[in-house]
Amino acid sequence: MFSYFYPDLYVSSVFKIPYKQLKEKHIDTLFFDVDNTLLPHGELAPTPELVKLFKKLKSMDFKICFVSNGQPSRVARFTKEMPSVLGNFSFSLKPLGFGVGRARVLTNSLPEQIAIIGDQIFTDVLVGKRKKFFTVLVKPQTNSDIWLVAAKRGAERVVLAEYKKHKRRV
Ligand SMILES: [Mg+2]
Repeated sequence: MFSYFYPDLYVSSVFKIPYKQLKEKHIDTLFFDVDNTLLPHGELAPTPELVKLFKKLKSMDFKICFVSNGQPSRVARFTKEMPSVLGNFSFSLKPLGFGVGRARVLTNSLPEQIAIIGDQIFTDVLVGKRKKFFTVLVKPQTNSDIWLVAAKRGAERVVLAEYKKHKRRV
């Protein structure tokens, strides 16, 4: 019943994504959410592990954009410290398509070449489904969500419980 919202992949963090397998599926473009996906909410500085991961992704020739619903100034500061990010689209109003649409123009990628990676079903996964991207859900990197996000987590838990049952069956 909730299958529309199921991500193509569900992992504990961005470090657990099988990037090589994505490449084998001809996915060469990655749209990352920022808050709670790459950084705990409210953090600004990337960890050395994150910088290392992005260097690796660059060496694998991925085109990378940040597509965040966060504030432009915050995300811009973070982006500057990250290697190999082509574009930074904040205030992108996911699950609406504004930010991902602009990111797609910049990267000039087809929908089937794009993976969207984020921590929220009703923003990141949903916009990815609508745009026919490959969708990767990661566990939120902190539990302290802003109130609006916290309100959506209850509904996400329902969908995730169904998703896990469905995965056991297949
Ligand atoms: Mg997020």
